[in-house]
Amino acid sequence: MNHFDHRDGILHCEDVPLTRIADEVGTPVYVYSTATFRRHAQVFREGLKPLGRIHLAYAIKANPNVAVLRLLAEEGYGADVVSGGEMARALAAGIPAADIVFSGVGKTRAELSRGLDEGIGQFNLELEEEGVVLARLAHAKGKRAPAVLRVNPDVDAGTHAKISTGRAENKFGVPIDQAAAMFARLAPLDGLDLRGVACHIGSQLADLSRLEEAYRRIGVLVAELRAAGHRITHVDLGGGLGVPYKAGDTLPSPADYGAMVARVTEGWDVELMFEPGRVIAGNAGVLLTEVIWVKPGVTNPYVIVDAAMNDLARPALYDAWHDFDAVAPSGERMTANIAGPVCESGDTFAMGRDIDAVVSGDLAVFRTAGAYGATMASTYNSRALVPEVLVDGDRFAVVADRIAAETILAAERVPDWLMPGRDPA
Ligand SMILES: *Cc1c(COP(=O)(O)O)cnc(C)c1O
Repeated sequence: MNHFDHRDGILHCEDVPLTRIADEVGTPVYVYSTATFRRHAQVFREGLKPLGRIHLAYAIKANPNVAVLRLLAEEGYGADVVSGGEMARALAAGIPAADIVFSGVGKTRAELSRGLDEGIGQFNLELEEEGVVLARLAHAKGKRAPAVLRVNPDVDAGTHAKISTGRAENKFGVPIDQAAAMFARLAPLDGLDLRGVACHIGSQLADLSRLEEAYRRIGVLVAELRAAGHRITHVDLGGGLGVPYKAGDTLPSPADYGAMVARVTEGWDVELMFEPGRVIAGNAGVLLTEVIWVKPGVTNPYVIVDAAMNDLARPALYDAWHDFDAVAPSGERMTANIAGPVCESGDTFAMGRDIDAVVSGDLAVFRTAGAYGATMASTYNSRALVPEVLVDGDRFAVVADRIAAETILAAERVPDWLMPGRDPA
């Protein structure tokens, strides 16, 4: 459910007509709904109610805008971060360091050190050597780093290959059959409080049975670790729950997910941790765009919009589907391809799609663009960096500026040896 609906023929975000945002901010622009973010945060928490005490760490890579982080902090969410930059954002948004989980397969020594200085709540270790280095850094600072070992359970998440992370050949986590031996070597290290395990098998998961299989394997490992005398107090079950991208898609609800987790983890006697990203942010945002041209094509016309793959990379990266709706639909329909201005054939959002009929100058949205949208934006083709707007009821604010191509150009320079007039000798 989300708060983007047509009222009197005009698509609104909550009480704000998208025409007003286009007038005042321009296009393309991401538009987020506060009420939808809050609702998703609450529904996810509610779904996990059967589990008792849990820790919720929003995976901020899905949508790291500082205003979004602030509002999720108000909903009681901590953060799952995967870089020093994300750590800085979470802290800037007022998320307590103790509520931050530091994930990521390539944390640098400098990032680990900064995490220790900030008092990050948990480090999710991706390899044995990282644990050794973290222990040494912490010991030198007179600290003990709270940590869990991320395990790769070798389960196919049944999602797009580029967002699948839990197969043995993926780069993430340690092989589950080596985890107990590694745990035994790491647990005794001064400087490390190795207190549990973590897993995260992929994103946009539509099939709970894959997650269930991964969690069962984690349960077996927890029992094995305890039998070996280790104290296991925390298990981080990651994120990955999918969202509907097409009108009519049905996906497992947070309540279905919570019921499955309750069944699988019964008797584990640990604090369970979760890292939801997409399920919180996906349907809370749209990418608002203007039609530049409707260009005749061989079979179908091309609707060329002013948003492109640099603003929303998912279709080019993952062949992803985003519903496309006119802001002020006429009621007529057309079959069209939808593409952006970037000079790549991959800059195509849809082919042969049945859509609201549009003409140049019309406004339209790509729906379900709140997760892995603006966060992946680039300035390819020397386009501006796309801005973001947050709506709350009948008010809205620009929460990320459009960064003009000229501003990016101003950060570049020609070295003096390439300057005209300089003696080549
Ligand atoms: C990306 C990621 C998540 C969030 O995944 P979603 O599919 O957006 O829920 C959680 N944990 C880790 C370690 C991740 O890398």
